[in-house]
This record gives sequence, C-alpha cells and structure tokens, in this order.
Amino acid sequence: MIELKERVFSGIQPTGNLTLGNYLGAIRNFVKLQDTHDCIYCVVDMHAITQWQEPEELSRSIRSVTAAFIAAGINPAKHIVFNQSRIPQHAELAWVFNCIARLGWLNRMTQFKEKAGKNRENASVGLYAYPNLMAADILVYRATHVPVGEDQKQHLELCRDIAQKFNSDYAKRLEKIGYGDGFFPLTEPLITGPAARIMSLRDGTKKMSKSDPSDLSRINLTDDADTIAKKIRKAKTDPEALPFDAADLKGRPEAANLLGIFSALKEEPLAKTLNTYGGAQFSSFKRDLADLAVEKLRPITAKMQKLCADPGYIDSVLKDGGERARVIAEPVMNEVKKIVGFVR
Ligand code: ATP
Ligand code: MG
Repeated sequence: MIELKERVFSGIQPTGNLTLGNYLGAIRNFVKLQDTHDCIYCVVDMHAITQWQEPEELSRSIRSVTAAFIAAGINPAKHIVFNQSRIPQHAELAWVFNCIARLGWLNRMTQFKEKAGKNRENASVGLYAYPNLMAADILVYRATHVPVGEDQKQHLELCRDIAQKFNSDYAKRLEKIGYGDGFFPLTEPLITGPAARIMSLRDGTKKMSKSDPSDLSRINLTDDADTIAKKIRKAKTDPEALPFDAADLKGRPEAANLLGIFSALKEEPLAKTLNTYGGAQFSSFKRDLADLAVEKLRPITAKMQKLCADPGYIDSVLKDGGERARVIAEPVMNEVKKIVGFVR
C-alpha cells in the first residue's frame, strides 16, 4: 500500500445546532487528535443542502459550527478549519467518484434510507450521492484517518471501496505515471470509545441528531443550564432502578444511553459509573448527570457565544483555512485529471 503522511480529515454539517452527540462522538476527538496528527476539520456546507436549508440559517449555522470547533479547543492556526464550498475540488472529485461508485453500493446505505424516509422518490439526488461527496472530501486530501461517530462507519467503508476501485480501475495508468502502489489511501476510521453513539433522550433506539424535529430529544451545545436540566429530567427512562452490571442494561436502551453519556462526560469507564449508581433511582442519577453536563458544556457554550458575536473573525478563520486547504486539494485533483486522462 502507499505510504502517506498521517493526516486526519473530518467534517460536520451545518444543519442546525450542534448536539452533545456531535461533541462526544466527534468534536472532542477532533481536539485530542491535534497533538498527534495534521488535522483538517471542515464545515461541510455542501452536504447540508442535500436537505433543504434556509439560506440565512445556513450561513448562521456555518459560522456557529466553526465557533464550536474553536470553542472546544481546535486550533485553526496550527490545523486547518474551513467550509467545504470554498474549495471546488471537493465537487470535482465527487463527480469522478459518482462514476466510480456503483448504484448497488449506494443502495445499501442506511443513512439515505433513514433520511429519505417513506417518500424516497422525493429525496434529492444529492442526498443519495452524499457518500460519494464524503469520499471526495476525505480523499481530495488523501487523508489516512477519519474520526467519526459510529453512524458514519458505513460511509467510510464506502470511501475505502471507492479508493480501492479507483486504484484498481486505473492500475495500468498509475503504474505508468509513477503511482504503482495506488493513488488513494484506504482511509481508516477512528471510532473511539463508548460515546461513539449517543442516543435520543426520547427514544433510546434512535441516535441523537441535530435535525430531529423534537428539541427534547437532544442537548444542544447552545442550551443553558436550566434547559439542559429540564431535558435530562424529562428524558425517557424505565421503572427499574439502575443496574450494577453492564450486562443488565440489555433491553434497557434509555438507561444504557444515560449511563453512557455520564461515563463519556466524566471520561471514566462505564463499570465505574455503574459502581457508583447501581441500585440508585433515576431521579437522583439524573440530577448528577445534569450537573455534570452543565459543568462540562458551560465553558464551551460561553466561548461559542463570544465567538459568534464576532462573525468577521470567524470568516477570516474560514478564509485562511480555505487557502491552506486549497494548497493540498488542488494538486491532488490535478493528478486525478491526469490519471483519468482529461486534457488540461
Ligand atoms: P444530521 O441529522 O444533520 O445528519 P448529525 O447530528 O448526524 O446531523 P452530522 O453533521 O451528520 O451530525 O455528523 C457530524 C459528526 O457527529 C459525525 O462524525 C457523526 O458521526 C457524529 N455524530 C452525530 N450524531 C452522533 C451521535 N448521536 N453520537 C455520536 N456521534 C454522532
Ligand atoms: Mg448525520
């Protein structure tokens, strides 16, 4: 396989207010990876419009996701933070990948099925082709690692399939122009720990998502302390006391989710949380969980608010990040054109 410098890429859609799921499943890991990797963190606005977005709301959301990145501890001077639509190479490579990926592959994607719902005929073509654009986002930087929540695992497998098919379809050509080991890396997912899947507060079998119609289903990074406490108090539970053993969480998705959130926020193993709360009633556990969530989120929320008050600064971060992203993406796309045989 080709040896590339280890590079991390990941993205978040500006489709509403960021949730605790986005924070624990993605952003918190983005922050940690800065110490060990070169990182590119992208606000994927082109993905956002695969479902209808009010234009003004979209602009607000792009800036607010950027603010969340910075507030959580991403350093945009050391790493790259930008919004996707600035760099045309994402769309260009996505087109090539539309011609590499097979319909049969995309037909298996569960996110499309979930998001399109019953009225599939009325879903946008973009929503269907979403995973190909995601593969282009990653591979236009020839990124080797992608930190994501578990819901994106299937898309990342597709990204590897696309890279592999591109490398093998063009193998002869690649050999000839000096990429004998393949051009695109087979990108590895970095899906870490118990927080990889935070579930809805209203239904422990559904993932917490910023586009869920019910605001009570999620904790937003913009919620104040009272709202967080209220949402946790109202979170769905079952009538039994909390168990002592993780095995007894089987068939109790809501209990499993709340305990999982606690252990993720506290950064302690689930066994330790169970040790503390085994036998306790939900009411007392929920009080502690609300306090913990407020304690962990408040510093980020406060910083986000400050940053959002200065859109000029946010825009300058995105512009600067975009310029540095382009330096990587442009030559990669130029090579792709050469490999494919486009005359330039
Ligand atoms: P949307 O409903 O618009 O798809 P989303 O909440 O799923 O919004 P995305 O922008 O699609 O957010 O995903 C951003 C990142 O957050 C991805 O890495 C995804 O895996 C992660 N993520 C999203 N929801 C969760 C969750 N409930 N638990 C853990 N990680 C999550
Ligand atoms: Mg999503």
